Amino acid sequence: STVFLNNEYIPANEAKISPMDRGFLFGEGIYEVIPCYQGQFVGLQPHLKRLFDGLKALEISSPLTTEEWGDLCKKLVSLNEGDNQGIYIQVTRGSAPNRHHAFPKDTVPTIFAFTFEIPAVPMPDKQSVTAYKVSSEQDLRWKRCQIKSTALLGNVLHFQHGVREGNKETILFNQHNELTEASSSNVFIVKDKVIVTPPLDNQILPGVTRHILLNVLREHSDFIIEERVITHQEVLDADEVWLTSSTKEVAPVIKIGEHWVASGQVGDIWLKAQTLFSQYKYLY
Ligand code: PLP
Repeated sequence: STVFLNNEYIPANEAKISPMDRGFLFGEGIYEVIPCYQGQFVGLQPHLKRLFDGLKALEISSPLTTEEWGDLCKKLVSLNEGDNQGIYIQVTRGSAPNRHHAFPKDTVPTIFAFTFEIPAVPMPDKQSVTAYKVSSEQDLRWKRCQIKSTALLGNVLHFQHGVREGNKETILFNQHNELTEASSSNVFIVKDKVIVTPPLDNQILPGVTRHILLNVLREHSDFIIEERVITHQEVLDADEVWLTSSTKEVAPVIKIGEHWVASGQVGDIWLKAQTLFSQYKYLY
């Protein structure tokens, strides 16, 4: 496959990065994953906006303009195989001769991007959809979860907790027993036809799928939508629970630990939400 590394499109097996890169030494970088189906990107602009927000938080000036980032994504997709591809972009502060915590002067940011094949999104269907069984535990990550940091050790350990229990995701609650997000997804609940998700703050990643879904639901449905604090008890009492992420889109959760969500069936409102998402996802 062809990857992008520091202004060059090169074969993946020729890509080399210094071990002194601060992405490697400190996890000092940010990343994005952007889906592209048949040449159409989902949420390209919000993904690039979040990339810029992340660079600003790290005080790295963007090596490329929004337009150049967009062109890079398009070119990389065209240079690689697959009708449907995810584009992974990572920017780190770059490398310096010595390992010091302080930002070094005059470093050149490292830009690395590659694509990977992703499956086509199937027609939303209650019978055939992958219904998630998830684990849950206390959110033990840091207090800057709005940054899409490459330093994902906290997320990886939470994800692995789920894997140990035979699950593919772990939902997280803060020390006040309030829902934050999952280890690699945002979380929504539905109760009495009201759709609720935690508000944007430093405890969660501002998911692009979350953003698109909220907009689609507000513009194309009559559901009441709330962004507010959700307690652990509300999650257990919910009629439906969903995960959202760029690769999952809107995914139903039927079991949390030993607790079945409502009757343990995929919900009707999930079907409407994912159907609307599929219909309008390219417009944001
Ligand atoms: N929350 C976390 C911690 C994530 O890692 C991700 C994506 O990987 C998400 C939420 C969902 O974000 P997006 O919808 O932008 O993919």
